[in-house]
Amino acid sequence: MLGPVLLAASRSDRLRRVVAAAPVTRPVVDRFVAGDALHPAMDTVHTLTAGGLDVTLDHLGEDVTDRATARHTRDAYLRLLETLALAGLGDRAEVSVKLSAFGQALPDGGHDVALENVRAVAELATATGTTVTLDMEDHTTVDSTLAVLHELRRDHPGTGAVLQSYLFRTEDDARGLATAGSRVRLVKGAYKEPAHVAFQDRRAVDRAYVRALRVLFEGDGYPMVGSHDPRMIAIAQDLAARGRRAPGSYEFQMLYGIRTAEQRRLAAAGERMRIYVPYGADWYGYFMRRLAERPANLAFFLRSFAPSR
Ligand SMILES: Cc1cc2nc3c(=O)[nH]c(=O)nc-3n(C[C@H](O)[C@H](O)[C@H](O)COP(=O)(O)OP(=O)(O)OC[C@H]3O[C@@H](n4cnc5c(N)ncnc54)[C@H](O)[C@@H]3O)c2cc1C
Repeated sequence: MLGPVLLAASRSDRLRRVVAAAPVTRPVVDRFVAGDALHPAMDTVHTLTAGGLDVTLDHLGEDVTDRATARHTRDAYLRLLETLALAGLGDRAEVSVKLSAFGQALPDGGHDVALENVRAVAELATATGTTVTLDMEDHTTVDSTLAVLHELRRDHPGTGAVLQSYLFRTEDDARGLATAGSRVRLVKGAYKEPAHVAFQDRRAVDRAYVRALRVLFEGDGYPMVGSHDPRMIAIAQDLAARGRRAPGSYEFQMLYGIRTAEQRRLAAAGERMRIYVPYGADWYGYFMRRLAERPANLAFFLRSFAPSR
């Protein structure tokens, strides 16, 4: 019940101001966000990679409403890629982008603005030996995001896609994307979606996840299993074993701060494990989606407001 309320709150500017200004919020945010700026986030990158984990970095931001801010997003990613190149991690550190932060929703030609901005990021990623993955946002953006993906893949075939199992369309999209070299992160989906486009029942979302997982593992692409769910992880491992997939022909991905012992366990067992590391000042939408996923997180957040005794 609380999930949809929190997802609606994640798009409220009024609540954003209240939550962001509350002095007790920061320690709770720090559990999910690796700092307000690139340099503290790089400390996290070094710690994770030294522990055998790979990373994908997200410079937080979404729903940009003017061209100048979209260009700032592009420039922040260019600085990030330059910093990663200096760290010499190659494709152990890639980047994840939200096209809404690159101008996708601008009323006049937003799709083309986002494509132009993200192309510059993909070019630098290729030049520095790494990749970009296009995060997937709400269902109204899927066609535009997949069109940008196809355009970028002409010159940058390593560009990654994200599919959300809660959408009815995803099994078909997975079939279309299960081609040689195609990097596809499969997730359950984190937005509030209407019943005419998405499964509303968690079990139906899980079953759809397994169906899409099977398509990806049986295809020729590079599946990226974006889930903390132990059942999805076990099924992916089983599909990998049955398909005799070599280590390194697929990977697991989890979010920074969530199930960290399991992240280390999978890496120690020889799996490729990549951590999604968000950083930056615009953490509100990302943080609220993490609260929505798990009521216990909300309780933890609310407890931080209680006066200490
Ligand atoms: C690497 C990565 C990238 C992602 N990118 C996108 C994207 O581009 N677009 C998109 O819509 N969604 C994205 N997501 C979010 C995703 O859609 C889900 O909302 C999220 O992963 C929770 O689903 P789950 O598969 O972990 O399963 P769930 O059934 O939700 O969770 C399984 C278990 O994982 C743990 N867990 C899950 N979430 C949390 C949490 N917030 N806090 C604490 N514990 C938790 C709990 O133990 C829970 O029981 C991404 C997720 C990952 C891991």
